[in-house]
Amino acid sequence: NSSDIVDNLIAEIKAAGMEDEVKVLKTGCFGFCEKGPIVKILPDNTFYTQVKPEDAKEIVAEHIVKGRKVERLLYMDPEKEQHISDAKHMDFYKKQMRVALRNCGFIDPDNIEEYIGRDGYQALAKCLTEFTPEQVIEEVKKSGLRGRGGAGFPTGLKWQLARANDADQKYVVCNADEGDPGAFMDRSILEGDPHSIVEAMAICGYAIGASQGRVYIRAEYPLAIKRLENAISSAREYGLLGDNILGSDFSFDIEITFGAGAFVCGEETALLRSMEGNRGEPTTKPPFPAEHGYWNKPTNVNNVETFANVPVIFLKGADWFNKIGTEKSKGTKVFALAGKINNVGLIEVPMGTTLREVIYDIGGGIKNGKKFKAVQTGGPSGGCLTEKDLDTPIDFDNLVARGSMMGSGGMIVMDEDDCMPSVARFYLEFTEEESCGKCTPCRIGTKRLSELLKDITQGKGTEEHVKELKRISQVIKDTALCGLGQTAPNPVLSTLAAFEDEYMAHVKEGR
Ligand code: SF4
Repeated sequence: NSSDIVDNLIAEIKAAGMEDEVKVLKTGCFGFCEKGPIVKILPDNTFYTQVKPEDAKEIVAEHIVKGRKVERLLYMDPEKEQHISDAKHMDFYKKQMRVALRNCGFIDPDNIEEYIGRDGYQALAKCLTEFTPEQVIEEVKKSGLRGRGGAGFPTGLKWQLARANDADQKYVVCNADEGDPGAFMDRSILEGDPHSIVEAMAICGYAIGASQGRVYIRAEYPLAIKRLENAISSAREYGLLGDNILGSDFSFDIEITFGAGAFVCGEETALLRSMEGNRGEPTTKPPFPAEHGYWNKPTNVNNVETFANVPVIFLKGADWFNKIGTEKSKGTKVFALAGKINNVGLIEVPMGTTLREVIYDIGGGIKNGKKFKAVQTGGPSGGCLTEKDLDTPIDFDNLVARGSMMGSGGMIVMDEDDCMPSVARFYLEFTEEESCGKCTPCRIGTKRLSELLKDITQGKGTEEHVKELKRISQVIKDTALCGLGQTAPNPVLSTLAAFEDEYMAHVKEGR
């Protein structure tokens, strides 16, 4: 559909004889998926929503040729019932702060010069000319950046650990194996701004003393792969990857490895085993990848969103970054808003923004005027948060304290009609399917939990089923080998904590 819009716009512009004056560019995602496809006209920043291929004729004839906005394609503010033409005045964007997504929707991701035109590769040049590797690490530590893949480990400290281990070869790995149901943060960054990842990986390579980078990306992301491949080859052409980058004595290059879509390969040790051609199974830690990683060499693994923040820290300064967010969670976080919410899409907010602001101010509230019931954050590893958590500032520690987790940024909203035991069953069936099977608590435990949930939601459960759910959940949490198993019971435990009455209603009423 979007490709047809592009083709039609090009044809109409040509027919109007304006092909030398007006260019049509494909960008990455604007985030406002609910109102896509979106066409933005520059330089006047007009933001057309829900555009169809047949609208191209009117956009060109009216806007491009005559300079008159096509009102029916402008966003309609639901409260003021007014058309809005500039995204920055829309409620969806007003409370957002785009740091990791700074270039998505603004540049042609296939054109390196557009990235350079928005200060691209300046951070790398600055690091190579003004900072020692140790100073780069100090700057990242000072910024307070924590890993955006789920665990929230301090990024600067991770880099320092990898630097501290001497070896003839070290690796920088970008984890682009995004697997949470409903999550598409990393895919959007790679599709909309792949050079930011290339630049950040090179900075990391300089900091830890690595000359090799690998991106582990799931093969189901063909557009992200294509744009990343293109970014890597243009960076090589411009001397920004390869030998003696920008005339320095630092050399670094990146290769891509495809993943086959196993959720467990988002866990860094499983990812590294998969990259080596083995089964994607986690290994015990320690040893950590910083010591024995890819091919047993010191390796630093960060996810896509974590890397996307790195160039900005050097462009605007660690102090600037450190001032955003809460005491222990600095910067912003990208979330994929999905489920029963009016404005489904990709958003980025400063840490510390409340769930209420995300769901009501940015997300536009619950679909069809229904009542909010819960929101699942952190995907299958997370938990559900309810009405009482709406004013909680979102950060790594607050969400864990409430029985959920930030995870990589999936956020699925549920309304009054959703059955919470069924929601838990959905997630458990997912983790049961995705368990690698290496350790018994997870392999057998998730299967048993999903059987119990199936019985309960089909009206065949007893009170013993509910007790057993709690007991097995705790055993899995305490004994599973990796994060997938340790967090798999979270959807059960958090829905039981807030909605045990729904479980008991299934049991008592036999439905
Ligand atoms: Fe595999 Fe699950 Fe054990 Fe992790 S916890 S190693 S996914 S079986």
